[in-house]
Formats: sequence, C-alpha cells, structure tokens
Amino acid sequence: LVSYRKITKSFGDRTVLKELDLDVYPGEKIALIGPSGSGKTTIARLLMTLEKPTSGTIEVEGEMLWLMPRKGKLVPANEKHLHRVRSKIGMVFQHFNLFPHMTIQRNVTEALVHVLKIPKSEADERAMRMLERVGLQEHTNHYPSQLSGGQKQRVAIARALVMQPSVMLFDEVTSALDPELVGEVLDVIKGIASQGEMAMILITHEMDFARDVADRILFTDGGVIVEEGTPEQVFQNPQSPRLQTFLSRFL
Ligand code: ATP
Repeated sequence: LVSYRKITKSFGDRTVLKELDLDVYPGEKIALIGPSGSGKTTIARLLMTLEKPTSGTIEVEGEMLWLMPRKGKLVPANEKHLHRVRSKIGMVFQHFNLFPHMTIQRNVTEALVHVLKIPKSEADERAMRMLERVGLQEHTNHYPSQLSGGQKQRVAIARALVMQPSVMLFDEVTSALDPELVGEVLDVIKGIASQGEMAMILITHEMDFARDVADRILFTDGGVIVEEGTPEQVFQNPQSPRLQTFLSRFL
C-alpha cells in the first residue's frame, strides 16, 4: 500500500534518513518507535508531502508521490497529482490544528464539502456518525476552545477518518496531552484499529499502546530501521544492543 524505497533525507549537511526502505501492507498496523531525533516524524512528513526526499521514492497504492507518468516517462508531479495521492492519507498530529472559529461539526465536514464536494446534508451525516464513533456526539455545536485536549484530539481523529483514507498516520498524538487524557485518545485509536481494514502508521512513545495495537513494530535509530518484528519479537526478544538499551528505559 505504501512503500518507501531508498529514502534519504538531508537538511543541509545533516542526513536524517539514510536509504530507508519501508513497506506498509493493506490493513496493516505498524508502530514506529525509537529515540528522539531518530527520524520518525520526518518519515511521516515525507508521506504527507510536507518534506521532499533528497533521494529515493515513495509510492502510495502504486502511485509515486513526486513523479507522475506522462507519455511513457516519469515527469515531476503537478499539484493535482500530488493532491490526489495525498488525499489517500489521513494524518493526526501532536497538536490538533483544529479550526478555532468553526464548530466541531464544521471542523469535520469542512474538507468533505470543500475538497470532496460532498453535499452538505450527506457530509453532516457522515460527520455525525464519525463524532459518535469517537464519543463526541454531545459536542457537535461546541467550539474547539470549549473542549479538553483529549476531546480536541478525538475531533482531529474524526476529521481525518471521515475522509476515508487508505492509511492513517498518527504522529505522537498523545505527547501534548495531560497524562489523565492520554487513555481516552489511545482507546479511540485502539477501537478504530480493531474495527478497520484501514492501514495505520503509529509513531509513539507509548510502548504498551504500540504492543496492543500494532501488527509489526519498527525501531528507528540514526535514520535507519535497525530492527523490526512482531510486538513479541521486538519487546521480548530484542536483538540489537541499540534496541535493548532503548527498551530498558521503559522498564
Ligand atoms: P521525536 O521523537 O523527538 O519527535 P523524531 O524521531 O520524530 O523525534 P524527527 O523529528 O524526524 O525525529 O527529526 C530527526 C532529526 O532531523 C532531528 O535531529 C531534527 O533536528 C532534524 N530535523 C527535522 N526537521 C528539520 C528541518 N526542517 N531542518 C533541519 N533539521 C531538521
């Protein structure tokens, strides 16, 4: 579904990712774990086209992100192509980035109506179903400032999900939350993971959560994937010294 091939990303003379290969299969839930600065967010930002790789390619459902075919050749992608490929990916960030001047309902319907051109009544219905799924049906007419951090993050999740992406990217979605609000957000994500056939990429510092939700865990360090495996393999039988040291901090 998603494949990174030999992705290198440098900022000036600092190389953050080094010839990274990564595949996500349809419906698969993967978790990226690793020390701060190991390149996890950069992996996410590349997929969202917020960064361009220095070299290498990324494909989503067989389509390249930065290139498109024309007359049998690959040429630089235009905005329309990028936009279409990007629309297959839903993303939730650490900071919720809700529209402060819109109600919760409108935050969720905005892109349905203005990007997907879905009639407002249908968009409202879809938003309502999604807000129920994240437990916020009582708050549809409230504004973001009236909600707790955990609730805002659940709106951000509903807003991404309502677009029916093929893959959802969650980048440290609980790290800006007060500790008592973390659980409700993780529970919502677990619920979605258990129901959905949608693929998920979870970037997280919550090891228990990664273990519960992911089919496969990838440990990044120094811009490469050092080790990967099932949660059991990675947490109970880590092979590389770097992963062993990293995990020992969570004991
Ligand atoms: P964390 O867990 O702290 O979020 P991370 O594993 O997500 O870390 P990244 O945010 O991907 O790591 O960052 C990897 C490295 O790239 C860091 O050293 C960071 O300083 C550097 N970096 C990221 N973005 C830029 C940028 N726009 N310009 C320069 N350096 C950058």
